[in-house]
Amino acid sequence: MDLPDVSLPDRGVPREDLFADLRARKTADADWRGGRTWSLIYPAGADVDAVIQEANGLYLHENALNPFRFPSLADMEREVVAMTAGLLNAPASASGSMTSGGTESIMQAIRVARDRARAERGITSPTLVVPRSAHPAFAKGAKYFGLELVQIPLAADLRADVTAAENLIDDRTALVAGSAPNYPHGVVDPIPELAALAAARDIPFHTDACVGGFLLPFMAEAPAFDFRIPGVTTMSADVHKYGYATKGASVLLHRNGDHVLQYQAFLYQDWPGGLYGSLALAGARPAAPIATAWSVMRYLGTAGYTRLVDRILTTATKIRTTATALGLTVLGNPIASVIAFTAPNIMAIGDQLDDQGWHLDRQNDPDALHLMVSPEHDRVVDQFLADLRTAIDNAGESRGVEARYS
Ligand SMILES: *Cc1c(COP(=O)(O)O)cnc(C)c1O
Repeated sequence: MDLPDVSLPDRGVPREDLFADLRARKTADADWRGGRTWSLIYPAGADVDAVIQEANGLYLHENALNPFRFPSLADMEREVVAMTAGLLNAPASASGSMTSGGTESIMQAIRVARDRARAERGITSPTLVVPRSAHPAFAKGAKYFGLELVQIPLAADLRADVTAAENLIDDRTALVAGSAPNYPHGVVDPIPELAALAAARDIPFHTDACVGGFLLPFMAEAPAFDFRIPGVTTMSADVHKYGYATKGASVLLHRNGDHVLQYQAFLYQDWPGGLYGSLALAGARPAAPIATAWSVMRYLGTAGYTRLVDRILTTATKIRTTATALGLTVLGNPIASVIAFTAPNIMAIGDQLDDQGWHLDRQNDPDALHLMVSPEHDRVVDQFLADLRTAIDNAGESRGVEARYS
């Protein structure tokens, strides 16, 4: 990778010039405040923003590595984990930690399962069995920690095929997982059935609720996905997605809280620097994500999250209904905030939307456009749907793959 032709300036840049430069650079970025992005950022309103900014400012410089130096952080982290455990109906035996994001939560769950498989079942060439629609964090974890990734094919409804899964789980399987919901289609895998297959062989099961962890608990009708299913042993839930905290905040929960110290923790004293202990992949850890996660959760409460979920569901229903009426095909039966839709010329429609300043992700197998609805999208959804109609009317041939990422 070529590096830009830049070196550290001889003399510091004056603050005014510096920030003029910074602001100029930022104009090239997606206009998420205008509701133009349909992923990556989850705007929940000016009041939530203000809470985040204040909490962030209070904890910008602290370090969550050492819980003894900053006891407020240790307390807040444990309270975020406890509140999340309550939402996901974890038993009293459960425990967990905050991580830097869904990827770390999932990777830690994989590592713990691998080490358990080795220690408890003598497995030296472990497999990780996940739906084909599982987030790339699973493939990343398998690669980092030396597990073979085994993909469960999807059934016609785009949920993991349970019958196929049964044949893929065997004596080498260290962990089985499912998504609630998954990223590509927003559908919830048959978690009770998959977890039962794992439990029948005493294999751990992870529910990836990175997206759904702060949505499904506030929906009147959500499929079973959490610790109420006996076979579910670990869960991930991202506070930095629909928990609305700033990036760097996820929760990893273990049904058996003893596994936190027994398997997740890294303790070390074979150096001159004293005892070093950590539950995270990182060493020094930012404090602000912990403080913002705690603050937003306290600020919103059940009533606040329910209000925001209602806004999301209203917008998502509107998009699904209109897209279908316009002749697009919605993939699967998404239940919450994620929608993927397709048409024979879907990428050309995507080009048109790009030109109108909307940022939708593109998917393949099949080609589709993908969006994740946030509470604030209700302010722009009518404009978006009007532009979608225009895009469909004007779409010719797609500009092709190069244009997709331009
Ligand atoms: C976003 C996401 C993840 C990974 O989370 P990061 O916070 O981006 O690391 C995992 N699973 C699902 C279903 C996701 O949507």
